[in-house]
Amino acid sequence: MRDDDLRILDHISLRDLEIALDLHTRELAKVTEYTAFSWSISRHRMFERCKRQYYLNYYGARRVREARERVVSAVWWLKQVTLLSAWIGQVIHHLAATAVRAHRDRQPIDEEELIEQTLEYYHAGIYASQRGARHEGEWRVLFEHVYPNDPFSIDRDVAEVRVSDLAHTFFESEAWELIRSLPPQAVQEVDVSFQSFVLTEVPRLGEVRVFAVPDVLLLHDDKVIIVDWKTGDVTGRALREQAGIYRLYAQQVYGVPGEAIEIVLANLDDYGESVEPPGGVPSVEESRAFALSSIQDMVALMENVPYNTVSIKNFPRTENLALCQWCGFKRACWRHEETYG
Ligand code: SF4
Repeated sequence: MRDDDLRILDHISLRDLEIALDLHTRELAKVTEYTAFSWSISRHRMFERCKRQYYLNYYGARRVREARERVVSAVWWLKQVTLLSAWIGQVIHHLAATAVRAHRDRQPIDEEELIEQTLEYYHAGIYASQRGARHEGEWRVLFEHVYPNDPFSIDRDVAEVRVSDLAHTFFESEAWELIRSLPPQAVQEVDVSFQSFVLTEVPRLGEVRVFAVPDVLLLHDDKVIIVDWKTGDVTGRALREQAGIYRLYAQQVYGVPGEAIEIVLANLDDYGESVEPPGGVPSVEESRAFALSSIQDMVALMENVPYNTVSIKNFPRTENLALCQWCGFKRACWRHEETYG
């Protein structure tokens, strides 16, 4: 199904794709909980990185069933693409969530067995992607299978060792030690999908749902600690912004003051040390202002605000081909031949 759907991209031009997508994303369809405008830090990052990527991800791929349009289906598949290197991060998050839930539920934890299961989970995901199948109910679509002529984002053998190393580091990490030192009932959230709160008094929109999904949220002695497992760089400015949105989320949902909310980055790439977000965690007020400013920039590019429609002409492809090299959408941008190898 996946490869069949993607094949349309071999038979049309960029111009025809843009015409088909424009019709789709400008259609005045009443918004639903799935298509109403919402905001998240990852949406902000994509908007900043490449306008076309943002368009394809949040508009081109939406309402895929209703659209009954092969181009939309192809873009939907490309939206699911994950690099093998990023798949490793997802696998480690899966391990961490499994272990923290076991602690919360007072279940015995056999570390070696969990690491073994993690490696199986990792391989099963790759195998599912190879076959174009689901794995544990979700489509796995690895970049390396959609773009087989490109080099792997990480060597296969190195990748497997990395999964094992990161899994061991997780169990040695300061954050895991912290979680285990607290009573199980302190664990309030473990990677709960679609966690959100409502941002009010947003110009032109009124209210906007903001998604923020902490890896682990602990509530103990009237304080909130949010743990974010990191398998890559922990120095980027974006991490500070993300930490601020977590703080805003916890303040809104748990009603605790901003000063009583701590964000911990568990650096699994470096001995499992817990570090602060670079530059510290922004205040609740700063984070709210940041979210409002980002939303304002996105709304400015809408065609019809109540219907949340956009036109592709306002979302050009980036000129920075380095961004395209590892972008899952490059087949829909005709950048796959310019960037591979
Ligand atoms: S391939 Fe390049 S231009 Fe296209 S969405 Fe990705 S980053 Fe943007």
